[in-house]
Amino acid sequence: MAVQADPRLVAELETYGAQDVLKCYHCGNCTAVCPFSKEPFIFPRKSMRYLQMGLREKLKSNLEPWLCYYCGECSEQCPREAEPGETMMSMRRWLTAQYDFTGISNLLYRSWYMELLGIVILAAATGLGFYAYGTAHGSIHVYDGANAFLPSSFIHAFDWTMGSILGTFLLINCLRMWWITMGRDPRVKVTPAMYARRAWLLLLHFFTQKRYSECDRKGPWRHHIVLMLSYVTMLVLIMGFLPLVQAGPKVNWWVHALGYAATAGLLVTVAMALLGRVRKTRTHYKHSHETDWIFLIMLFYVALTGILQHVCHRLGSPYAANVLYLAHLMGVVPMLVLEVPFSKWAHMCYRPLAMYFSHLQIDALEAQGRDVAETLPA
Ligand code: SF4
Ligand code: SF4
Repeated sequence: MAVQADPRLVAELETYGAQDVLKCYHCGNCTAVCPFSKEPFIFPRKSMRYLQMGLREKLKSNLEPWLCYYCGECSEQCPREAEPGETMMSMRRWLTAQYDFTGISNLLYRSWYMELLGIVILAAATGLGFYAYGTAHGSIHVYDGANAFLPSSFIHAFDWTMGSILGTFLLINCLRMWWITMGRDPRVKVTPAMYARRAWLLLLHFFTQKRYSECDRKGPWRHHIVLMLSYVTMLVLIMGFLPLVQAGPKVNWWVHALGYAATAGLLVTVAMALLGRVRKTRTHYKHSHETDWIFLIMLFYVALTGILQHVCHRLGSPYAANVLYLAHLMGVVPMLVLEVPFSKWAHMCYRPLAMYFSHLQIDALEAQGRDVAETLPA
């Protein structure tokens, strides 16, 4: 089949944050120093080449951007300052948009003001909707129990409805990732037994970010794993135990201790990431896409308003607690709606999937007796 080159590809990736791609002259230094580059996944030089040559379909079916954890070694060693690490990051954003069937991801990544507009509209709709419900069914001076402004049973039902819808979108996008990187390539014949045998990799890489921990620089991994586990802990508490989290005055200590630890984890790691990006303390903080700022600021806002409304509730100020709860929900809804299926949080699923798929590709090609270095798709 003829391979089509698209000369607009570099310019397109630049809107996703790619930097100085055309400076690359393919010396291969970046691939030599990359701690994760190993046959058959040799990167980042190959991905740079696909991009420079405008090989859209090859780049689209490429798993390698997900196998990069942005340690920054390649960018530091590049003699041409072609920023291969940042280009791999921009490819992850671009791939997220390719997997997304709605086109929303593409819109958010390419236009920060559209993302801000989406946040404002969703925040306003959330605020108005919950305020109308709260005043119609209770009093803003009551936090919990009878006549509560935002009763936990109502918020719980809302969370599950929103979670189911967003989960469905994310699942469809994950299936599209599978189709684009694996399913549509007739050369990769993966049997159901292979899928089952390697399924444990999904859990391993989701919960431990194991590959990241193998990087020489452990700092970013520790930071990342605390952020990710704090977020997951909070998600489990909210989705599974909201009535206990919100109840009072009796404190359920195991729920609250986990909640406090997760909140502290989120606030500290997000504050560190924001400071790092302001000061450009690490290579991967040197270039920040608008969506990086928006994501971090929203996450910090949500964690801060969440703990503040809780403190007000505990201190016996139901009015302040309800106002802060409303402000908190006005951050939570846009953050989850825009980030879970279409942006940064979707990466939490795409990374372990890429690890899983990369092992399956090797298994399938080896089972066919083929040289994986020569025949790997992408
Ligand atoms: S990105 Fe830099 S280090 Fe890598 S091949 Fe190109 S010029 Fe060499
Ligand atoms: S940023 Fe690190 S992991 Fe990513 S391609 Fe460069 S050297 Fe490899």
